[in-house]
Amino acid sequence: MEAPQSNKACVICGSEAAKKRFVVTERQLGLGEKFTYLQCSKCGCLQIESIPKDMEKYYQGDSYYSMSLSSRGNLVRLLNALRYSHRIRSLTGWSWNPYYMLGAMVESVLPLDKALFLKFGLIHKGDRILDVGSGVGELLYYMKSQGFPDVQGVDLYVPDDIEYPNGLRITKGEVSDLPPESQFDVIMFNHSLEHVADPRKALISAGRLLADDGKVIVRLPTAYYAWKTYRENWFQIDAPRHYWIPTVDSMRILAHNAGFELVESIFDSSYAQFIVSQQYENGVSMADGRSFSRNVIKSLADLPRILHYQRLAKQLNAEGRGDQCIFVLQRSITSTLPSASGMNYS
Ligand SMILES: [Zn+2]
Repeated sequence: MEAPQSNKACVICGSEAAKKRFVVTERQLGLGEKFTYLQCSKCGCLQIESIPKDMEKYYQGDSYYSMSLSSRGNLVRLLNALRYSHRIRSLTGWSWNPYYMLGAMVESVLPLDKALFLKFGLIHKGDRILDVGSGVGELLYYMKSQGFPDVQGVDLYVPDDIEYPNGLRITKGEVSDLPPESQFDVIMFNHSLEHVADPRKALISAGRLLADDGKVIVRLPTAYYAWKTYRENWFQIDAPRHYWIPTVDSMRILAHNAGFELVESIFDSSYAQFIVSQQYENGVSMADGRSFSRNVIKSLADLPRILHYQRLAKQLNAEGRGDQCIFVLQRSITSTLPSASGMNYS
């Protein structure tokens, strides 16, 4: 039997203090395999104890990658086109075009998490944008089509480089594989940095491609209320794909160690932290035909429950305890040390 604690160094703060072990089941694809996670008692970061060697096999689901956008089903493509286009349009100036209004209506019932962060005013028309961990580049594709001239993506798990008819390019690889002369105003890791084994290295590589006054946007799960409530059933652990899940303290330390300063933290969690985690508690995986993400009709019947949990999520976000956050990093101009955390997360 495994010891209940580990002294492995924290992947973010390096602390070797004893960490509790948790056994988490793979539920996105419904494989049922078990993985051990540790929680750092210093910075609070949750992290996988050892990364499996065969990670490709955990990226086979259609919720991750297909060969290109055109291989998606017609209904999914239409819903996504409506929701992305409306959200991007809100950056470039709203118009009473029926297409965008329909997109807004669809999004109000079926929000698209990957695009929702655009509402926080962190991206502006004309920004040169790099999306790290872009997948097949769905968000970028619609940005490019709607007048963002200089956007591109990089992703380790796409089958090959992708070149779209509208000029969008997705490079298969890591951020360090991009030519050093590239310059970006915004480099975003939209639910991708937690999939990277060495986030400090990835951020340092991003920093080399960042314009002087540019910013890095890191959006990822955070280990607060939903983690404490649902523990191993909290769906955002997403074992084994998420290698580490920070607290604000962890992100501040990571940013500092990569030459950045954490300038803003915007919690943007949703009802999913309750609804999907409760499904996991009841043994319903994401891949299950009964799951919320698979059964749109059932999710509409649950509307009162969704609205209730959406209010709770909003409250958690306001209190800084939501289960995901948008972190804005800028190049460090001071040499102050990260604030030492007096909190005990164990
Ligand atoms: Zn730590």
